[in-house]
Amino acid sequence: MWFGVVTIFPDLVQAALEEGVVGRALRAGSIQLELYNPREYAQDSFKSVDDRPYGGGPGMVMMAEPLAECVKQARTDFESETLQTILLTPQGKTLSQNVVREFSELDGLLLIAGRYEGVDERFVENYVDSELSIGDYVLSGGELAALVVLDSVARLVSGTLNNPDSTSTESYSDGLLDFPQYTRPRRFEGLDVPEILLSGDHGKVEKWRHAQAIRRTWNRRPDLLTNRSWAKEERKIVNSLSNCGSGCDTENE
Ligand code: SAM
Repeated sequence: MWFGVVTIFPDLVQAALEEGVVGRALRAGSIQLELYNPREYAQDSFKSVDDRPYGGGPGMVMMAEPLAECVKQARTDFESETLQTILLTPQGKTLSQNVVREFSELDGLLLIAGRYEGVDERFVENYVDSELSIGDYVLSGGELAALVVLDSVARLVSGTLNNPDSTSTESYSDGLLDFPQYTRPRRFEGLDVPEILLSGDHGKVEKWRHAQAIRRTWNRRPDLLTNRSWAKEERKIVNSLSNCGSGCDTENE
């Protein structure tokens, strides 16, 4: 999959993508990255990419022309009509694992990182397919948000993870949070690894983990369960959680 990032801080983005599974995927070629710096497309000798807002007020606004030139260059480089252009903004639709999954099925994603007070609205009207937020708070720039999108999408692209099965039980993949994980040593500061995980019985381990995932979701994110339909075995767990009320420590059962 091809990713482009439009940013006035390309080194920041590049550095963050050198490590871990995404760095490995870039080196292996399962994902490609191009960076576009609006400064290189600035139209004056000062390389200006921002200017004062019409109507007055604090701060600066990113100018439309350098951003538009970056998008045009990205479209030329990607050589396909299918490139999706996404503006990172706290005013956009909130990123979720469903959105991440949809993006991972695309061939190309161009992520626009804003700075200052944001970008000229006319650029948004003419060049942006959709606006995306990573949460209800305001960052100083869109680079970190673009990296969040890029990382979460890239790990679902075939060839990025060593074991793609690891995403199937991950939080949000099937509407539940992930089960708790343990590794060596067997005893840590008076706490033991649950016996069942040492039993070698894969069927029982799987059942226990699934029950834990339901309990965890019930306790921490009941909103995720609102419209969920339950299989017979799951229903038993849910009934015991309902009978428990708010006082019981359901995660340690
Ligand atoms: N004045 C803008 C507003 O109130 O909506 C905020 C501008 S913010 C200081 C600068 C840039 O950071 C934005 O243009 C956007 O690219 C990025 N940004 C900030 N918060 C974000 C968020 N929650 N999600 C995605 N991008 C964000």
